[in-house]
Amino acid sequence: MSPPLSRRRVLGAGVAAALALPAFGSRGQGGRDPFTLGVASGCPRPDGVVLWTRLAPEPLQGGGLGEAPVAVAWELADDEQFGRIVARGTAQATAGDAHSVHVELTGLEPARHYWYRFTALGARSPAGRTRTAPAAQAMAPVRFAFASCQQYEQGYYAAYRDMAAQPLDLVVHLGDYIYESSWGARFVRRHEGGIPTQLAEFRDRYALYKSDPDLQAAHAACPWLAVWDDHEVANDYTDDVSPRTADPAQFLAIRAAAYQAWYEHMPVPASMRPRGPHARIHGRWRFGQMLDLFMLDGRQYRSHHACLPGRSASPLVDCSDRLDPSRTFFGAAQEAWLEAQLAVAPARWTVLAQPTLLATADRGAGLQPAYWMDGWDGYPAARERLLGALAGRPGNALVIGGDVHAFWAADLRRAGQDAVVATEFVGGAITSEGPSAASVAAMLARNPHLRYGHADRRGYAMMALDRRGCDVEFRAVDDEKDRASAVRTLQRFAVADGAPGVHLGAS
Ligand code: FE
Ligand code: CA
Repeated sequence: MSPPLSRRRVLGAGVAAALALPAFGSRGQGGRDPFTLGVASGCPRPDGVVLWTRLAPEPLQGGGLGEAPVAVAWELADDEQFGRIVARGTAQATAGDAHSVHVELTGLEPARHYWYRFTALGARSPAGRTRTAPAAQAMAPVRFAFASCQQYEQGYYAAYRDMAAQPLDLVVHLGDYIYESSWGARFVRRHEGGIPTQLAEFRDRYALYKSDPDLQAAHAACPWLAVWDDHEVANDYTDDVSPRTADPAQFLAIRAAAYQAWYEHMPVPASMRPRGPHARIHGRWRFGQMLDLFMLDGRQYRSHHACLPGRSASPLVDCSDRLDPSRTFFGAAQEAWLEAQLAVAPARWTVLAQPTLLATADRGAGLQPAYWMDGWDGYPAARERLLGALAGRPGNALVIGGDVHAFWAADLRRAGQDAVVATEFVGGAITSEGPSAASVAAMLARNPHLRYGHADRRGYAMMALDRRGCDVEFRAVDDEKDRASAVRTLQRFAVADGAPGVHLGAS
């Protein structure tokens, strides 16, 4: 665990930075600030981390740097004042990657804070703070936040302002980091441009989202890990099929542009760089003996929607096709990889980070069940295989998700069995509108393994793991339409070591 970070220091454009660093201001050559999108770090290992920034003096007009490469110097320090520099170097920011840099540091010490910053074009970036993962044999507590679904038009990022002030080792983002489309009942700010299909349009959409100071503060406060869901590309897409684009080849070109823009704006290593419409972003992240964190891609490889050929997945339906055992949520290769990884001796806690609610959620009425085909209920055989791989395994299994714009806590059981094999938490939405209170109440009534549901507040979740147990806190924004909104605890939960299942704590 780590102390909260001084926000003023991290954002760094204030008086202290100006006094300490007379040679640099945030304004670079020609009076233009190239660091309009902030800084970030991610993918922590015991000996390294990835540092990120993107030079974009004109963030909403393609960046504003033309075709020439630009040298970006980086510094890593032991201390917040940059008095003890432990590493420095230069990266080339090229137009092919939208003048982003992804600096892959190695040789660092485990479980430590470091501070970093960049200089380019005569300007210095704000400083960021990062933290390496614990050593392989360490058994230290881990505390992280998880977030999803941050539709820019529907609210401000008060949740991120709150998150940046928390003592966190890590932020996990579960998808819908951008939205390609405009939707919702009430907007507080607007997208520029329509639905992106070209790389330049996706870049400008990321730049719009990343121009938000509260999102920048959360990135600057600690390292992140991220997976995508659908809205980074197109609503309700599955593999090469999108309800909006009839021709799969045309859609794969959109997917390639969207994945490239995701790579350019995330603190991830070059191994995640897309090749055409393909990118491997799933992986296993170890935090000593305490936490094995699996980041899982639920969009790129999944079987097409069942029961709704060629149509949006939104209508609630049921049909026998969804039960087909050949249907897969993670794709055959990722599923086999995950199963093999899960067979290895686990840490105290295994966390599966994936986009959406895993638990069965019958949303029907009366005697008629109905399911949402874009969620795991469109892939029940794959869910059974996953729960089977978790059952009977030593250690504790937790599942975290987003996507459904509500807070949920659930006991996960294999079909027809009493034993709880894993515990699930879905951490709300940063801003995106949720379902009605009536639909949440109906789902709770029909699905007793859903132990808690709440959809009338936006927010995020925090999870703290130690030897004895897992503590989860749902954090709720009073009013996401207010940039200065208070954020408070909605509900706390506990899961005891060796005893899977949701225990409600104080609200
Ligand atoms: Fe969403
Ligand atoms: Ca989604």
